[in-house]
Amino acid sequence: MQILHPFAGSVQQYAERLADPDYYRPGQCPQCQAKHPLTAHGFYTRTLIDTAFDGVIRVRRYLCNACQRTVSLLPEFILPYLRSSLIVIALFLVAHLLGGQSLEAAARTAPPPMPYQRGQFWIRRFRAQAEPLCAALAALTQPTPASDFVHRALTMLESTGWIAAHRFLFAGVRCHLLGWPRGLAPDGRRAAFSSSAAAV
Ligand SMILES: [Zn+2]
Repeated sequence: MQILHPFAGSVQQYAERLADPDYYRPGQCPQCQAKHPLTAHGFYTRTLIDTAFDGVIRVRRYLCNACQRTVSLLPEFILPYLRSSLIVIALFLVAHLLGGQSLEAAARTAPPPMPYQRGQFWIRRFRAQAEPLCAALAALTQPTPASDFVHRALTMLESTGWIAAHRFLFAGVRCHLLGWPRGLAPDGRRAAFSSSAAAV
């Protein structure tokens, strides 16, 4: 399973901290609740596009010796199964859906330059997710009056802070800010019969 790495610095600072397995070693298993610190269990790599980074990062894995399952610690500036960082996605969505910028202009707002079609994919997912997001975020912030769920969800995310909202949604209610991709179970593990869940 994936849990969030409680880290909010730059990508470079994340990479430096990652060298020490003790830094964020979970003190107990989030899956079987065994009260033993987990054992460092290597890394996997994934691509990441952030405002000042476009490359590959490592994600640390830990193993629970009681249930023999692994836990990976995803840095909280990342949404599972999406290549772009949460901040890049947020900049684009806010520029287009709240700021009224064209798709092309919004794509230029969020560095590095990207095809606007990538943003359209985020918009589709965000629209589908807006109503449940409003309901979930009501635990964190006052629902704001808005003409529709998309604007209300964006305003609530802006007032909560996107990373704080993601942390709450993911850890608290296992909710993906843009909705889990089809074929993935709500806990983020690949469903038994899914054929593809490529990161876009
Ligand atoms: Zn366990």
